[in-house]
Amino acid sequence: QNPAPLAPHMSKADFAGAMKAFRGVVGADWVFGDEESVAPYAKVYVPDPLNRHVPVGAVCPETVEQVQEIVRIANQYKQPLWPVSTGKNMGYGMTAPATPGQVVLDLKRMNRILEVDADLGTCLLEPGVTYQQLKDYLVENNIPLWIDVPTVGPIASPVGNTLDRGVGYTPYGEHFMFQCGMEVVLPDGQLMRTGMGSIKGSTAWQAFKWGYGPYLDGLFTQSNFGVVTKMGLWLMPKPPVYKPFMVRHAEMGDVPRIIEAMRPLRVSNLVANCNLMMSASYQLAMFKRRNEIVPDGAMLDEVSLKKAAKANGLGMWNTYFALYGTEQTVAAVEPIIRATLTASGGEVLTSAEMGDNPWFHHHATLMEGGLNLDEIGLLRWRGAGGGLAWFAPVAAARGVEAERQTLLAKEIVEKWGFDYTAAYAIGWRDLH
Ligand SMILES: Cc1cc2nc3c(=O)[nH]c(=O)nc-3n(C[C@H](O)[C@H](O)[C@H](O)COP(=O)(O)OP(=O)(O)OC[C@H]3O[C@@H](n4cnc5c(N)ncnc54)[C@H](O)[C@@H]3O)c2cc1C
Repeated sequence: QNPAPLAPHMSKADFAGAMKAFRGVVGADWVFGDEESVAPYAKVYVPDPLNRHVPVGAVCPETVEQVQEIVRIANQYKQPLWPVSTGKNMGYGMTAPATPGQVVLDLKRMNRILEVDADLGTCLLEPGVTYQQLKDYLVENNIPLWIDVPTVGPIASPVGNTLDRGVGYTPYGEHFMFQCGMEVVLPDGQLMRTGMGSIKGSTAWQAFKWGYGPYLDGLFTQSNFGVVTKMGLWLMPKPPVYKPFMVRHAEMGDVPRIIEAMRPLRVSNLVANCNLMMSASYQLAMFKRRNEIVPDGAMLDEVSLKKAAKANGLGMWNTYFALYGTEQTVAAVEPIIRATLTASGGEVLTSAEMGDNPWFHHHATLMEGGLNLDEIGLLRWRGAGGGLAWFAPVAAARGVEAERQTLLAKEIVEKWGFDYTAAYAIGWRDLH
């Protein structure tokens, strides 16, 4: 028995009929409906007293044809489906659906790397492929291409993350921009390929994003308007030189100065990767427990925070970026960037000063598409059994807006007894 409510328009008989038909497609071992087997799909991380985010079931297909068949059955019984790739959407709901009565369409078994083109720097993936799997494939086959990962890379999926319009931290970090071609099962079960994938015999499906006529791929991101069963992505060639930096700012109030200094570097592409500007509290939460800094129950005050940050080689804001290129290009750009960031009041640091500092190491790994799960430490900030929910506002990269956002967010979270724990991703012209 599963406590989750059915979709409002569905009868128990319809639900039972749909589940029986799903079993006929994928076998009984890959359809889940009872409370215990559905529980892993309901880890939403936020209080859910009415079980609104507990799915009524889950089904795990292995082939595109099975996905099509499942979608047709869902239509017949009007059973809503909630597709996930690897379902590691941590802080935004994991696999838990947004509305009641959904069956999770779990695509983790569809995990083949269908193609990697080392010359074009492209790949074609199924949804269940993880970043770790793709990285291992490139290393094992000695292909000098990088991947670009979100901070939870090892366990997450390039397809799922891109459909969520996620970000990573190499110059290919805006994932949807570097996506090229999709195969989608539409709501009536038909199969569609976007871009050049719609042209018979085309060899450019993963090379040219736009195809002919209206561009459709965006329809299937952050939407659930179709089930994406294949996706093309571009991969960055490993550059001859990679040099990571950290800029340390001493005061909470430095926010506008940092943004005003970074924006022109990003807009001009002198700094080509998405930067992370991390508050001291966020950074400390990765590797420390809150009660190492202030006693349980006490407010996380600025003096204690500053002291703990300093003791760990951190500032109140820590901004990470990297240079990519040849010896000559990096040497030419570095002085320009150093001058701008030093003028903003920041200390510009590299591995020469930071050595094996764990925070620097974490970000230096990310910015070359490396994999680790250091940030999951956030969940243990207040001890075992913690959770996490993101609030992810989007803003233009302007100092005044960032300052207002920081003050507003701090006021709200502190009012409700939380710590202001912020990470600004500085995109090409945005903060998100
Ligand atoms: C500490 C921490 C740090 C994080 N850092 C980052 C970060 O740096 N960058 C970032 O982007 N995210 C980050 N996240 C958020 C999240 O964990 C990642 O975005 C993760 O990649 C999403 O999970 P997934 O790849 O398994 O996608 P899924 O959970 O499989 O998919 C995400 C959503 O996309 C849709 N979807 C998925 N697959 C399909 C499909 N085949 N067809 C149609 N729709 C589909 C669904 O709506 C689904 O809910 C972080 C989370 C935590 C806890």
